Amino acid sequence: MTQILIIRADITKLQVDVIVNAANSSLLGGGGVDGAIHRAAGPDLVHECRLLGGCKTGQAKITKGYRLPAAHIIHTVGPVWRGGKQGEPDLLASCYRNSLELAAAKQLHSIAFPSISTGIYGYPIELAARVAVNTVRAFGSESGSIEEVIFCCFSDADLAVYEAVLSEISE
Ligand code: ADP
Repeated sequence: MTQILIIRADITKLQVDVIVNAANSSLLGGGGVDGAIHRAAGPDLVHECRLLGGCKTGQAKITKGYRLPAAHIIHTVGPVWRGGKQGEPDLLASCYRNSLELAAAKQLHSIAFPSISTGIYGYPIELAARVAVNTVRAFGSESGSIEEVIFCCFSDADLAVYEAVLSEISE
């Protein structure tokens, strides 16, 4: 069974097979975790990203990790929060599911996710954490090579929300 871990950390420092980037549709870098990943990976990352032709909301694409401790990066584009009735929950779930499918297809064992869409894109953290945890849980039976899924929170407040959501869903 896939193990789920929740930690507070800078995702660019994690020694896992793949980290997920909350990218924008250009895949050419941006603010928040996207900017941090591009800075830490170095300029070769944007060169590879240029060849990918962007990425639609809810989809995911994989690159090498370059200077990161992680060997790979999965770039996924979360939905911008527009009140919750514009398909945001399904699109956010697709980000997690498509990322997990890519990681499993590449035979990767450990994957770390940031809290997709909850920064600049404004998705309420508690709602987003529920989608994240439920989607990862539901993927369990198809998880293939994936042994460990890490939710990498960037603040103590986010960490507390994820822990509460995970224990609520585990009951
Ligand atoms: P989005 O545009 O999808 O909302 P952001 O990068 O603005 O993406 O925010 C997504 C989450 O990533 C937020 O919770 C933010 O605090 C977090 N974050 C920012 N930098 C890092 C980092 N270096 N490691 C992990 N999480 C980060």
